[in-house]
Order: sequence, then structure tokens, then C-alpha cells
Amino acid sequence: MKQVTYNGLTFVPYIDRERIAARIRQIADDIKRDCPQGSVPLFICVLNGAFPFASDLFRAVDMDAEITFIRLKSYEGTGSTGVVKEVMGLGESIKDRRVIIVEDIVDTGNTIKRLVEDLKRQEPADIKVATLLFKPQAVQCDVNPDYVGFEIPTKFIIGFGLDLDGMARNLPDIYVLKEAAE
Ligand code: IMP
Ligand code: MG
Repeated sequence: MKQVTYNGLTFVPYIDRERIAARIRQIADDIKRDCPQGSVPLFICVLNGAFPFASDLFRAVDMDAEITFIRLKSYEGTGSTGVVKEVMGLGESIKDRRVIIVEDIVDTGNTIKRLVEDLKRQEPADIKVATLLFKPQAVQCDVNPDYVGFEIPTKFIIGFGLDLDGMARNLPDIYVLKEAAE
């Protein structure tokens, strides 16, 4: 793996695909262990960023399960706008379902907080949050994801679904902004 450049910004390798894959398998095992026998959890993948994580996690969870998608947007460039926009809502009912929200990253926590509050109004049996990445020092509200792939410092990262203005989502590994890595 070597450094990559997007929009004039240089990124260096941070978390490689093997580590990501191994961690996702562990999270899948944890989810299966926590789900009561016979329940069919509904995974809600938060587009766009969570799609590679959700795809791998969903296939690694060795139990009956369903998946659906919601689309939210809050970032522009390398910073949060603070405003969470729902671009594509949920089609199906989640009433009495065991819901597992699948996110790419929890940064300020605004996105996940707003989403959990919205979904709770629809009276699911349970809501859990699985996030591949978590920046605990960036959190501005009361959020505590149930399943965390990697806790990272407050640095801007790309790859494995995470983007810089739409680019870099298809990098198979995760990279960090070079200035932040030093
Ligand atoms: P939050 O609402 O601040 O927690 O941010 C959540 C969203 O911001 C994530 O779902 C990402 O789409 C985006 N985001 C946060 N941190 C990063 C990052 O380091 N790289 C790319 N996108 C990020
Ligand atoms: Mg996202």
C-alpha cells in the first residue's frame, strides 16, 4: 500500500483490508451471540458510506436476517456541516423488529443520534448500532455505539466506503490524511 492523493490532499495507509475483515468477522459473531434465538434482525445500512461494511457484515452474520437501506448526508469536504439531511428514507415498517443500524463512522455523533431518535418513534423491539469506526474524542452528544470496529483519534480518513467529496470509497483499505498522521 502506498500513499494516495485526492483533491490535492495526500493520504497514507492506516488500516489494511485483512485487519478490517478480521474485525468484521468478530463483530458478526458478537451480533449473532446477542440476538435471541429465532429472531430475524433487520440491518439498516446507512448509505452511502456504510455499504462495504454492511455488505461484509451482513454476509458474515451466520443467521436469518434482513437488510434495508437509508440515505443520510452530513459531511462536505473534510468537515461535518452539523446538519443531517435525509436524502432517502426507510420504505418498510420496523415496528417490533430487532434493528441493527450499520454505519461507516461515528464522528460528532449527530447523524446516529438523529437516526436512532427517528427510528425509536416507530417502536422497534430493539435498536443497536454497529459502526466500523468511532472517533470518541469527536463526539458532541450522548452516543455509545454497541459494536465498534476500530476506535480512532479525531483524524480524517478515507477508503472502504469513506469518501472525500464522493471519491475514494472504492479503496479496499483505510487511509488517513497525511498531515493528521504526523
Ligand atoms: P457525524 O454525524 O459527525 O457522526 O458524522 C457521520 C458521517 O460523517 C459519517 O457517516 C461519514 O459519512 C462522515 N464522516 C465522519 N468522519 C469522516 C471521516 O473521517 N472521513 C470521511 N467521512 C467522515
Ligand atoms: Mg456515513
